[in-house]
Amino acid sequence: SKAYQLIEWQQPPELRDVDIREPGPGEVLIKVGGTGACRTDLNLMGLPAGVMPYALPFTLGHETAGWVEALGAGVTGLERGEPVLVYGPWGCGRCISCRQGAENHCERVSELRSHGGGVGRDGGMAHYLLVPSSRLLVPLGALDPRDAAPLTDAALTPYHAIKQALPRLVPGSTAVVIGAGGLGQMALQLLSVLSPSRVIAVDASPEKLARARELGVQDAVLSNEHAAGHLRELTHGRGAEFVMDLVGTHDTLALAAGALRPRGQLTLVGISGGVLPFHFFALPLECQVVAPYWGTLPELVEVLALAEAGRLRMTVERFPLERVAEAYQHLRDGTLKGRAVITP
Ligand code: NAD
Ligand code: ZN
Ligand code: ZN
Repeated sequence: SKAYQLIEWQQPPELRDVDIREPGPGEVLIKVGGTGACRTDLNLMGLPAGVMPYALPFTLGHETAGWVEALGAGVTGLERGEPVLVYGPWGCGRCISCRQGAENHCERVSELRSHGGGVGRDGGMAHYLLVPSSRLLVPLGALDPRDAAPLTDAALTPYHAIKQALPRLVPGSTAVVIGAGGLGQMALQLLSVLSPSRVIAVDASPEKLARARELGVQDAVLSNEHAAGHLRELTHGRGAEFVMDLVGTHDTLALAAGALRPRGQLTLVGISGGVLPFHFFALPLECQVVAPYWGTLPELVEVLALAEAGRLRMTVERFPLERVAEAYQHLRDGTLKGRAVITP
């Protein structure tokens, strides 16, 4: 069996032969249906040694769905062949955050030296994925794991971010999404489903803006030197209550800050190392800035409910495991229509 592993920092990952381990007590072996390729993986591959506390090698892929293949001793409530989503942030399972289902905020993360499968431990870019506990699995119902995998990050992360902003998103308000890629296409739909806000998509690629329009977004703004003025115009000079930056460069942060209205919220999700200068007049008065991380288990169940109701469309491009490097290259080049999902 094969797995796409990060073997050395700043070196291209490799597709390698790996052994499949039988699930130990409490563990569940998943036959991978699909695993999404996330831009965070590209960041990860490019990091120098010592930045992340992860032991190498490990298998990439933190956005996975599949079928239960084998149950470790003591695991109940799951059946072989059952389709499941794999909740990605793997915490200690015992701290208060984990008990609240917020393993993305596990208090023991530094002891664990990993953030989950595919981010420090073996993930889903493989034929099989060993999940440490059945608490991390969500029954998938009728959805196909190959299409549903992006729910666990591309949809869950913006869902978690948008939920925190919902009280601001009243009738007459405006929400701006910068970056209409894998996460952004989900963010745009989630805003439309969850709020009465007017939703505006911003992207540097005309193809991504066309896709945003297909997903029902009325206003699409090309990210260039005119974007700030264009956003001002669209909001009648007032600015937006909510701006979500899914890119996170200096330029997009400046665009986001400039698009806010007083008391607005800037939510930074994109991890590109851009810096937002902060001083009293850096943002309109009384704005808030938040950088949310992934999402909680209950939120994943909520996202799944939206998908099951047909209210979230996933633009999935499938790649067999042998072509995983090609999928990442398309992601790097910006030539994907939506999310690349590796289907071993
Ligand atoms: P993606 O490549 O699919 O999407 C990025 C989009 O941004 C593309 O459509 C691209 O055309 C667009 N873009 C690039 N430069 C732009 C610019 N200057 N102005 C406007 N648009 C621009 O990536 P993704 O997988 O959706 O990930 C998005 C970001 O979210 C990444 O930085 C990733 O690391 C981050 N991320 C964060 C979390 C978190 O928990 N905070 C979780 C997952 C991903
Ligand atoms: Zn991710
Ligand atoms: Zn914990």
